[in-house]
Amino acid sequence: MNRKTPIDRYALHERLSGCFTGEPKATTLRGGRTEALRLLDAYDPAGYGRGRNFLAGPVSKLSPYIRHGMISLVEVRDRLSQRFADDPSRLEEFFRQLAWRDYFAKVLAWHGRGLEEAIEQPKHNVARDSRIPLDMIVGETGLPCVDGMLANLYQDGYLHNHARLWFAAYWCHFRGLDWLQGARLFRRFLLDGDTASNFASWQWVESTFAAKPYFMNKENIKNFSGGQWCNGCQAACPFDRDYAELQNLLFGGTRAPLANRGKQGLAPTPLSAMAGAAQSLPSIPHAPEIIWVHDAALSWNSPAFKTNPSAPGVFVFDELAMRSEPPAWHRVAFILDGIDDLITNIPNPGLEVLVGDPVDILERVALAAGAETIHLDQSHEPAMIEIAERLRRRFRVVEHPAPELARYDDEPKRFSRYWDKAAAQVTGKPAKRGGKWHR
Ligand SMILES: Cc1cc2nc3c(=O)[nH]c(=O)nc-3n(C[C@H](O)[C@H](O)[C@H](O)COP(=O)(O)OP(=O)(O)OC[C@H]3O[C@@H](n4cnc5c(N)ncnc54)[C@H](O)[C@@H]3O)c2cc1C
Repeated sequence: MNRKTPIDRYALHERLSGCFTGEPKATTLRGGRTEALRLLDAYDPAGYGRGRNFLAGPVSKLSPYIRHGMISLVEVRDRLSQRFADDPSRLEEFFRQLAWRDYFAKVLAWHGRGLEEAIEQPKHNVARDSRIPLDMIVGETGLPCVDGMLANLYQDGYLHNHARLWFAAYWCHFRGLDWLQGARLFRRFLLDGDTASNFASWQWVESTFAAKPYFMNKENIKNFSGGQWCNGCQAACPFDRDYAELQNLLFGGTRAPLANRGKQGLAPTPLSAMAGAAQSLPSIPHAPEIIWVHDAALSWNSPAFKTNPSAPGVFVFDELAMRSEPPAWHRVAFILDGIDDLITNIPNPGLEVLVGDPVDILERVALAAGAETIHLDQSHEPAMIEIAERLRRRFRVVEHPAPELARYDDEPKRFSRYWDKAAAQVTGKPAKRGGKWHR
């Protein structure tokens, strides 16, 4: 195991056939820690507090890098604090948003697989449908805004936070569709797609993790999108009403009144017959410890790498998981950028990239190397936890926790309660009272 050369993407593309969606194309964002640090050091959050809700506002687009552990929340906070030490006020709102991610990570850590189900009862009694009409998937709803958001999702893998809220509200409340299917669609196509921020945000919109459902009207979309879809729009706009009227239309009855039901239902993606044949392993030199490198910790600054500079690393694309929920190719390419960047920068003897069942492959690699210990950076993703549990049956598994933005040991219920305790840790100042909690 001495890979120090870039991954052969052509071979990997073939090996991953059936495990991703879409054609390979140049990605809009290059992955990797080097690029993450470059973007972070070029970012200035001036005007973020006032402008962040506008699609053209000064947002950072750092989330794909944070999601893949190419940089951590603590690094983002600390590097910005250092650079803007003379003017910490410009960082306050940006840090509060970083804290939303930390909070959602804690929500996932608390609920685990429970986050895939409604955490609370919805605060309405409208029925939901888990059969997703084709127009919602291909982006032919006839509404330029909704179709435009979907096109951005498919083409760029990025949607502004406000667009995510609008899209999720349209999906759940105006179409009466199951939030879980929407969250899964986002997880496949977003470059930052995850379980924590994504599933919890969908539940926040749906009101199964919030005190009321989130929805918007046309004025809101027009204002914060700069009119890019609304100016000259000829569609029969379901959002063009005031909030009281919408509240009544959407939640006054027992069914979603604007829902377009009964169209072609999409069956869940069939699980392909089975994962490919077991992959033959590269030659493995003796190593008492190996590092399982996963897609939430692609940084040479991660605790697992920093504490084990002589252990070889192994990254495994989980074939069965990818076949059951195929990510967009742009997502795979972003991860490969991150792995190539790691290979260039780690002192470790090498990093192999394999495809198959992570437990089977990691066990075989560890046995071939004579390793007794497998290191990994801690992740709260339920699938990772389950893999680590299975590895523990035969090996010593050491999970390295990442530094936290804020310590919070209570059950993470509403963000406001978390922020009461976290604000001082995140910003150095106590939480402001009476703020507006729009996300
Ligand atoms: C329905 C829905 C689904 C979402 N799915 C995901 C997801 O899969 N992965 C993901 O990382 N985020 C998700 N978010 C949260 C948020 O939209 C993105 O983190 C944010 O838009 C990323 O863009 P940015 O880096 O330019 O953010 P910026 O505005 O520059 O914010 C800086 C950082 O703060 C964090 N952050 C900002 N806003 C939020 C927020 N509302 N919730 C949590 N963290 C936040 C992110 O880490 C972000 O990189 C979702 C939000 C909604 C409403």
